[in-house]
Amino acid sequence: MTIKLNTILYIEDDEASRSLVERTLQFHGYRVLVADCGLVGIDLARKESPDLILTDINLPDLTGREITTRLRSDSKFEGTPIVALTAQTLSEQRDLAMVAGLTGYITKPLDVEALPKQVEYYLGGGRDLAVDAGRLGDVQARYTREVVERLESRIRDLEALNVALRRLDKMKDTFIQITAHELRTPLTLLYGYSRLLEDNATIKPHMIDDPALRMLVEGMNGSIMRMQNVVNEVVTMSRIMTNKIDLVVGTTDLGAITAKSVKAYENAIRERHLTVQFEKSQFPNKMQADWEMLELAMRNLVSNAIKYTPDKGRIDISAAMEGDQSVRVTVRDHGIGIDNVDQRGIFERFHTTGDMQLHSTSKTSFLGGGIGLGLAICKGIIEAHGGRLWVESDGYNPETLPGSAFIFTLPINAERKEK
Ligand code: ADP
Repeated sequence: MTIKLNTILYIEDDEASRSLVERTLQFHGYRVLVADCGLVGIDLARKESPDLILTDINLPDLTGREITTRLRSDSKFEGTPIVALTAQTLSEQRDLAMVAGLTGYITKPLDVEALPKQVEYYLGGGRDLAVDAGRLGDVQARYTREVVERLESRIRDLEALNVALRRLDKMKDTFIQITAHELRTPLTLLYGYSRLLEDNATIKPHMIDDPALRMLVEGMNGSIMRMQNVVNEVVTMSRIMTNKIDLVVGTTDLGAITAKSVKAYENAIRERHLTVQFEKSQFPNKMQADWEMLELAMRNLVSNAIKYTPDKGRIDISAAMEGDQSVRVTVRDHGIGIDNVDQRGIFERFHTTGDMQLHSTSKTSFLGGGIGLGLAICKGIIEAHGGRLWVESDGYNPETLPGSAFIFTLPINAERKEK
């Protein structure tokens, strides 16, 4: 014969009281669940359907009374004994507790000897006296007022917090913007010096003979270029985020942009034996758009397709007119694909799905990546043109390679406007 253990949920923020009650009840053969605040308690109650709920009244989020009222609104908890464990024993507090739907009261400080008997009493259907009918209306009104007042004060606190968070967020954007701008100038100088070093007449011949020296100089140049890429991404991103993306709209050839974006990665494409297919004639060659920004977006999409497609894979870039005012471009790879959950997050800043260790190794090797700004930038640029960018993928699977398609629509004639 199996004996079903009674399950008791205890909601209490004070750790010492929590563990005292937990141990006492476990010792008497109960299964005990604990929660340190009201919201966690409600979730746990819904999940575990305990036979009895013990709750403190003063908790950091909801009061024990509010927890009870909330649970009582669910028919599942209609008959569940919910008992307050509290030092609040004035008769008006007891009245409020009864009106909220509590079954009874156990007073603190706890009497460990008496607790199991008290629990047994409530489990057996015992309940404390209800408020007498004459005062019921009054007490109900007081309870409603208490709940509304607490709600109002909570909303005020949250609104103040929201204002503070927005201010902090703005400060952070400004900080990033200033830092990135300040880094850009010395980096450009550093890049110039390192190129001079590479071309220096004294050093150049040694580089041919000495592979170690060549590796040092090339490594330095490569790292500086990577730093420039990151800083440029951050600058562009901060312009997009602070609505300062001021499009320079002019006649733009989307086919030329695509060809250039593919060409920019020709080394990686060759080394990784990738096939990139695209038909330039499908792309409009006289759009009104910001050439430089669209090229940045297209490069990011092409470089991602390369990064997440294993060697010997294929990438198809196609375009089709949608009516005569809009073009739809698809960058489809046959790579690892993207998980459903991640598909929602990848357009957010600093969202990466892989291991940053791998990501920081290289810009072009398979799986190598950046800091998770590329797609946020693409989205900002496309939307600033009045277009839309989204992803379609059957999920992530590095074995079966479901691939991903990044699709954007763009008006043929973008207005010159600030986002
Ligand atoms: P990063 O600049 O670091 O590459 P992105 O914003 O471009 O960041 O991409 C964010 C994340 O989206 C990447 O870390 C990667 O996990 C995922 N991702 C982007 N493009 C693809 C793709 N074509 N295939 C699979 N995953 C991709």
